[in-house]
Amino acid sequence: MSPGTKIESNRDAEVDVTFDAVVIGAGFAGLYMLHRLRGLGLSTRVYEAGGGVGGTWYWNRYPGARCDIASMQYSYSFSEELDQEWNWSEKYSPQPEILDYANHVADRFDLRPDIRFDTRVTAATFDEDAKRWTVETDQGDRVTAQFCVMAVGCLSAANLPPFTDMEKFEGPIYHTGEWPHEGVDFGGLRVGVIGTGSSAIQSIPVIARQAAALVVFQRTPNYTVPAWNEKLDPEYVRTVKAGYPELRAKMRGRPTGFYFEFNAQPALEATPEERERQYEEAWARGGLPFLGAYGDLLFEKEANDTIAEFGRKKIRAIVNDPATAELLCPDDIFGCKRLCVDTGYFETYNLPHVSLVDISTKPIERFTTQGIVADGTEYPVDVVVCATGFAAMTGSFDNIRITGRNGLALTEKWRAGPRTYLGLSSQGFPNLFMITGPGSPSVLASMIQAIEQHVDWMADCMAHMRDVGAQTIEPLIAYEDDWVEHVNEVSKVSLRSTCSSWYVGANVPGRPRVFMPYIGGFPIYVNKCNEVMTNGFEGFVLDGTRNSDAAPRVRLTEKWRVPVDMDVISPAAIAAKRVPIV
Ligand code: NAP
Repeated sequence: MSPGTKIESNRDAEVDVTFDAVVIGAGFAGLYMLHRLRGLGLSTRVYEAGGGVGGTWYWNRYPGARCDIASMQYSYSFSEELDQEWNWSEKYSPQPEILDYANHVADRFDLRPDIRFDTRVTAATFDEDAKRWTVETDQGDRVTAQFCVMAVGCLSAANLPPFTDMEKFEGPIYHTGEWPHEGVDFGGLRVGVIGTGSSAIQSIPVIARQAAALVVFQRTPNYTVPAWNEKLDPEYVRTVKAGYPELRAKMRGRPTGFYFEFNAQPALEATPEERERQYEEAWARGGLPFLGAYGDLLFEKEANDTIAEFGRKKIRAIVNDPATAELLCPDDIFGCKRLCVDTGYFETYNLPHVSLVDISTKPIERFTTQGIVADGTEYPVDVVVCATGFAAMTGSFDNIRITGRNGLALTEKWRAGPRTYLGLSSQGFPNLFMITGPGSPSVLASMIQAIEQHVDWMADCMAHMRDVGAQTIEPLIAYEDDWVEHVNEVSKVSLRSTCSSWYVGANVPGRPRVFMPYIGGFPIYVNKCNEVMTNGFEGFVLDGTRNSDAAPRVRLTEKWRVPVDMDVISPAAIAAKRVPIV
């Protein structure tokens, strides 16, 4: 079956059907959760809004879409056979290949029969008497389940700003995160791209190669590092595959959940000449590991100034027109927003048919039938691409009416920012699990690693609940409050908490400003989750338990424990501000 093929249509709605678990989403999180639930013998229904599996990689089909984590690390680790049989072709995988992989996983583990595609969940309501969730969809399904698992993704609710008179524009308007499956032919067209984040930076060079003219509307310039993408050498692939378990273990020991060489020394203790050499070497390696050039770059503003200046120097060296180069130079913290990884981004502005419009002080005024007006000038375009990002972390929760105990709406509880215990669940919402939820490393770690660790913990948790006869699990408010406070406190150590990024919800007007992911590092977080489980689910209430003596079986969770003798980033290292977090 080709990726994205719709396999469901005109099915009968499922009404009054009961399952052990409902999973919302069939991206990498939902697929692996389904696999694990099946292993436990739990009946499971997965609802997926898209017409196929893959989540992020199903929707983000814009030109140039590609992963910014090295291919050999951006995959599941739960099956040695899967590791050995799958072959990545490039250093950074293009979107179609990652989608192929998701489809391969779905077929290999025969996951599709339990997934209902083209079905968007509209509501999930906890019934306190039955201690079950009722889940409703836009296809008329109304089913109940003991567990409701949110596998909705962190960057999946598209942010399409309501530009004035947008509806008057006569050409098509696309959002990078909801790209048409048939693709878009920009040949001979005048294209306007709004935004200069990761999606824009990847797509602009590719669109420019096709379009007759390209105008980029930039509100804030971004730092980006070359990917130096290349075909993977089969010999290198063989070597990695021969030592995959060791590589996976090394990845788990890193704050980011992926492995790269880094230098923990402080930039401020190096001479300017040493720094220059170090930055050049790191630039030549490229990608997100560029931030691993020194250990203090995201902790000390003065240290960050040195890498920021290096980044600006590169832009000025690449872009021919000095005025355009200056507009492209960010003046904020390097890597404060998610660092972008590109192929030929700045070079694109040297092309005669590409222009940059600064909307930093005067926003886009309005759309016309044939263009976009900014600062009193109308820019004629045939097509508009909104690379305007996502309502991150909580946007996909907000899109579902989630109601917990006492009729409490999750949106209400999270009005001032998300509140969870370990990013796994939230008090008042028993048996509602959140894969890579706010308050967990999630987007600050390699996503598939973060997903697998959460799913393994949840699967062990559900197995334990069955062992002891527990009907529900729910965090205690005191533990949740402490965790939320800890997440906030740790974020203040990093310069990342200081700028207006989607990490803090500042990219979408009206959202509360809270640093949402846990920045304390993946291994520290993992060991905390393991400890909570081995301490008998410390901080959770297991209701209805009949056999409270049964010790938790940490079978899957144990895999994630980071051995103390490994190259672990310790809390002391974080306190000493010597950790590359990318
Ligand atoms: P993004 O980083 O949030 O960028 C959105 C862009 O749109 C920003 O330049 C933003 O400007 C601009 N924008 C938003 N609202 C606007 C408005 N009303 N008027 C004008 N401009 C507006 O979104 P993204 O590029 O889709 O990336 C989101 C995240 O997805 C990334 O940070 C990354 O984690 C992930 N991603 C990863 C990859 C990869 O693996 N390579 C690729 C794509 C995305 P401001 O900066 O001023 O807000």
